[in-house]
Amino acid sequence: MRLSRYFLPVLKETPAEAQIASHRLMLRAGMIKQNAAGIYSWLPLGFKVLKRIEQIVNEEQQRAGHIPMLMPTIQPADLWRESGRYDAYGPEMLRIRDRHDRDMLFGPTNEEMITDIFRSYVSSYKDLPLTLYHIQWKFRDEMRPRFGVMRGREFYMKDGYNFDLTKEDALHAYNRHLVSYLRTYERMGLKAIPMRADGGPIGGDYTHEFLVLADTGESEVFYDSAVTDLSFGDRQIDYDDVEQCAGILDEFTSRYARTDETHDADEFAKVPEDRRRTARGIEVGQIFYFGTKYSDAMGATVQGPDGKPVPVHMGSHGIGVSRLLGAIIEASHDDNGIIWPEGVTPFHCGIVNLKQGDADADKACEDLYNALTAKGFEPLYDDRKERAGAKFATMDLIGLPWRITVGPRGLKNGVVELTSRRTGESEELAPDVALSRIV
Ligand code: ATP
Ligand code: MG
Ligand code: MG
Ligand code: MG
Repeated sequence: MRLSRYFLPVLKETPAEAQIASHRLMLRAGMIKQNAAGIYSWLPLGFKVLKRIEQIVNEEQQRAGHIPMLMPTIQPADLWRESGRYDAYGPEMLRIRDRHDRDMLFGPTNEEMITDIFRSYVSSYKDLPLTLYHIQWKFRDEMRPRFGVMRGREFYMKDGYNFDLTKEDALHAYNRHLVSYLRTYERMGLKAIPMRADGGPIGGDYTHEFLVLADTGESEVFYDSAVTDLSFGDRQIDYDDVEQCAGILDEFTSRYARTDETHDADEFAKVPEDRRRTARGIEVGQIFYFGTKYSDAMGATVQGPDGKPVPVHMGSHGIGVSRLLGAIIEASHDDNGIIWPEGVTPFHCGIVNLKQGDADADKACEDLYNALTAKGFEPLYDDRKERAGAKFATMDLIGLPWRITVGPRGLKNGVVELTSRRTGESEELAPDVALSRIV
């Protein structure tokens, strides 16, 4: 992409309404525009990152054997009457009436709808296990939408639902989700710690939230610092391997790590004192096994091996796709702007031409641009007639991992400058050597 032809409306001023770094930076970098409280347009740069995050979520869900589909944003109220949640959900639900006076709603989540789909088609245990998911806009009329996309009213969520014959099978689905989530967040350059969460009115131990530690997080968390040393790395996973998945769940959840809702001071006191941490965190996902709550209420049964109908065991598993942009930026920025992890960066590399219109500089930039593009990388070429300082400030603000700076003086010596956004370190290198460092 050539910046002169792109739409990147960066702001010079710091927007007064933004209280936290990620919100400020997303507005300044021209990634989002608020249209109403908690409702945003995704401008091209923000949209690009959103799609990269979505792509990683898709890849990891499908790697785990989960099947993508798409359900609508608008749902009929009757489904929610069946589960009893139409009244229970409260004012967070946006209720809509259509021209025929039918009660509709903008979905805040999809347990009812997916259970209805399941019961319409699946009647035998032979069709299990089954895990379906979609990535779709949700609406929750939050009391206090704030922090930009972090707590929006309209937000983008991956929600997946498993259907299993037995509790044991459903717990394997739960473990599988935990493993796939660990991989997902790590690919985004994030450390998201699974913490024991509150089962709500359904109760039970089978729910974990994934939290990214950040001072601006809305949850208070308590943990054994040993959990922050764990990393998933590039282990090979067989998602059908019940023991392997259970082993990883054990490894990542056996140490103390809880949100304030489940915090237990006596248990916490057993953690060695020098490892006890109290901090704040951003909830970027949650997994939940809830048994037959919806299948009982909505009659989602299958014929078991003995011919008798049994309600299916279910769980639901969510990732806050749009919230992740905020969480990643909270975890990775400095005073000059965003520092994108390679896994989610909107462009792989920035090219800054110090003297637009100089034949040699222009040609060297074009060559770099073409070479990167040919290798399947996406560069952002700042080809505007701007001061060098302004070009650097824009590149720092939008946070691409690499910047190649090209000017007539360097070219006389056969070099360009390669700068890492994260370390700030620069090296003068021949253009092809600079390229080989990136690709
Ligand atoms: P929170 O505690 O932050 O209100 P939640 O527990 O109500 O979140 P879930 O129902 O668990 O949310 O939804 C799954 C994921 O969707 C959450 O882990 C979070 O990452 C994301 N999410 C929930 N509400 C919002 C929101 N208002 N804006 C952006 N993302 C959200
Ligand atoms: Mg909520
Ligand atoms: Mg929550
Ligand atoms: Mg939650």
